Amino acid sequence: MGYFTSKKGKQSAQYPQNVTVLENAIKIPGGVGEIKASIHRPIDGKIKTVTVSKTPSGKYFASVLFEVDGETPKTAKGKIYGIDLGVKHFAVVSDGEKISKYDNPRHLAKHEKNLKRKQQKLSRKKDGSKSRERQRKLVAKVHERVANTRQDFLHKLSHKLSSDSQAVIVENLHVKGMVRNHNLAKAISDCGWGTFINFLAYKLERKGAKLIEIDRWFPSSKLCSNCYHQVSEMPLDIREWICPNCGTKHDRDGNAATNIRAEGIRILRTDGTAVSANGGEVSPKGGRKSVLRHSPVKLEAPTIASA
Ligand SMILES: [Zn+2]
Repeated sequence: MGYFTSKKGKQSAQYPQNVTVLENAIKIPGGVGEIKASIHRPIDGKIKTVTVSKTPSGKYFASVLFEVDGETPKTAKGKIYGIDLGVKHFAVVSDGEKISKYDNPRHLAKHEKNLKRKQQKLSRKKDGSKSRERQRKLVAKVHERVANTRQDFLHKLSHKLSSDSQAVIVENLHVKGMVRNHNLAKAISDCGWGTFINFLAYKLERKGAKLIEIDRWFPSSKLCSNCYHQVSEMPLDIREWICPNCGTKHDRDGNAATNIRAEGIRILRTDGTAVSANGGEVSPKGGRKSVLRHSPVKLEAPTIASA
């Protein structure tokens, strides 16, 4: 059986197999018993291991790793989305006809302000004092709330974009951050773009749709999506511009998303995948037989004894 090892930071214990996921609980062997749980996603495969962790604020989480016997996923049909990930808007999405902009949820900013205030208060507390420990727990709690709010948002958006699409195209984050703008490197880790792309990837794979990452530098902001004229510069503060070649008025992010989408379609075509711009078919090239996935499960009642 597992036990919690470290006293500081995140503590965790692994339970290999023999774990049963019930409707509102998880049953763990070795005298631990049933733990009340809210299951966030349906668990539809063979369970490999369950890792139970205790967060610094004293909450318990279980992460269930399970194996899915793959029938090869069916060929997905639907839209093709090009996404420009950004700091001003979290994501600007082009489906070839219209542009949709998705901002970080408003309450996220509120949590973050709260976090800053509580952290400042913590820094003024005396080392080793009881009130410092109390404040540390408060900070940890807000941290978790921020993380949960963000995860929730990322799950909802990735679900929305994978539910009616055959392919989603994004720029590779490494290339985007390193080449385009050095300040973006920090923003990338702050915004949760990486987590978002992971969520998208498994949700798309599950239904036989594709995630295309453009993994070389691509001038998505500098290219006119109408005539492909490329301007030499596009400073970050310019939100709208007019193409000097064809006179089209562009929204910066919408134009970038449209270019990303077009580049993805080009990649799909040269890849030999049948695809039509108004949403034809993308056939997956031999889906994987079995997939390992992590499914976070929130435990509500801390009934595990820490040994
Ligand atoms: Zn143009």
